[in-house]
Amino acid sequence: MNIILIAPPAAGKGTQAKLLSEKYNIPHISTGDLLRDEISKGTELGLKLKEIMDKGDLIDDATILNLLKERLSLSDCNNGYILDGYPRNVSQAEEYEKLLNSLNKDIGKVIFFDIEEKLALQRTVSRIICPNCGTSYNLLVNDLKPKIDGICDKCECSLKVRSDDTEEVFIKRFETFIDKTKTLKDFYQEKGNLYIINVDENKTVNDIFNEVVKVLES
Ligand code: AMP
Repeated sequence: MNIILIAPPAAGKGTQAKLLSEKYNIPHISTGDLLRDEISKGTELGLKLKEIMDKGDLIDDATILNLLKERLSLSDCNNGYILDGYPRNVSQAEEYEKLLNSLNKDIGKVIFFDIEEKLALQRTVSRIICPNCGTSYNLLVNDLKPKIDGICDKCECSLKVRSDDTEEVFIKRFETFIDKTKTLKDFYQEKGNLYIINVDENKTVNDIFNEVVKVLES
């Protein structure tokens, strides 16, 4: 089972990916996390990546593809995986398809989370993450608040705001997303792989999860 999740910042794709990973026992592969891992190693590449990500710009396609190739070659991907944050534009989608052909794998289903910019912004500036285990919390979403203020439920580390989760950077990231994904949506729509799920403030994490599972099992 291969799944691609596409969504603007803070639409909940990371949260849904983790739930799907537990339900289907397949890995959650986030290109944002792969990049943040590289940054946390403090390498020269990591420093360059941080500078670009902190401005809300996209990392070049070749760098992402290399990180992804490495990750998909691990044996835990053999029964499928959830791809979160990739592809982000048509050229990445084309490269990804070539990669899948060479690995004899299918695209699978592409799930697109639609969210209004105002709600995505509110959620972005209310997001805090654990720098140790990567768990994401949201002070605006009841199901996603940490049990103890500022402390990770899982590893008890202090939670932090992501350096690219400011209003200014959000606006840039959202614009980039809208600009690039229009054609990406059309690309997968034409192939018949695209499923759209609307995210709004009245739906709980579980409501959205049930909708996603329904799509995957249809
Ligand atoms: P995310 O964790 O998905 O919100 O991604 C955080 C940042 O990582 C983005 O704003 C981009 O700078 C970079 N990034 C993640 N995935 C990609 C990708 N597929 N292509 C280019 N840049 C990416």
